[in-house]
Amino acid sequence: MPEFVIPAPPQACLPVSTGGQFPVRRVYCIGRNYAAHAIEMGHDPDREAPFFFQKNPDSLKATGRFAYPPQTEDVHHEIEMLVALQSGGRDIALDDALSHVWGYGVALDMTRRDLQGAAKKLGRPWEIGKSFEGAAPVGPLMPVAQTGHPSAGEISLHVNGALRQSGDLAQMIWKTPEIIRYLSQYFELAAGDVILTGTPAGVGPVQRGDVMEGRVAGLEALRVEVV
Ligand code: MN
Repeated sequence: MPEFVIPAPPQACLPVSTGGQFPVRRVYCIGRNYAAHAIEMGHDPDREAPFFFQKNPDSLKATGRFAYPPQTEDVHHEIEMLVALQSGGRDIALDDALSHVWGYGVALDMTRRDLQGAAKKLGRPWEIGKSFEGAAPVGPLMPVAQTGHPSAGEISLHVNGALRQSGDLAQMIWKTPEIIRYLSQYFELAAGDVILTGTPAGVGPVQRGDVMEGRVAGLEALRVEVV
């Protein structure tokens, strides 16, 4: 063990449905990966090259509670499927991409939309809108042995029982293997990396006291209270 000069921060990790914890290295998030969401955000839904931002590993939280963050009055939900990698590398081939996947989960890409919008206008990075504490509530991860590789089926979010977001994984513009291949051309992927694969249409604000329930076909549902 190295001799740390300050207390070592805890390893970010996510609970696993079958027991144990998944240690997280990096969090990649793809933008505008469902055409209907690209349109609602005022963008062209054509299949342009994908783009990414990152959240910090410690912004993932599996506590079932989302603390309304500071310096915003417009926090939005984005329901997404999470892909967790057990291995990685550079320039991964398309037909080899899924062999690097350990499992899947349901996640929320919570967004300070007002701050993100201001950053966009100024051509600035999105971190202030996307990467605050607790910005990615997640449900338990499930291993591929239980889930297979989900590529079609419902992805939805209810708030206080009302349907807000609804789509189908088959509507993803960039499919999971394509996302892995693309990322690996720009970054060296590794065990512990997780990818949020984009959100369907219907994003919108939440308030303290709201209960969000996210579902992806075949995965354990995610229930999160805004506090
Ligand atoms: Mn998102």
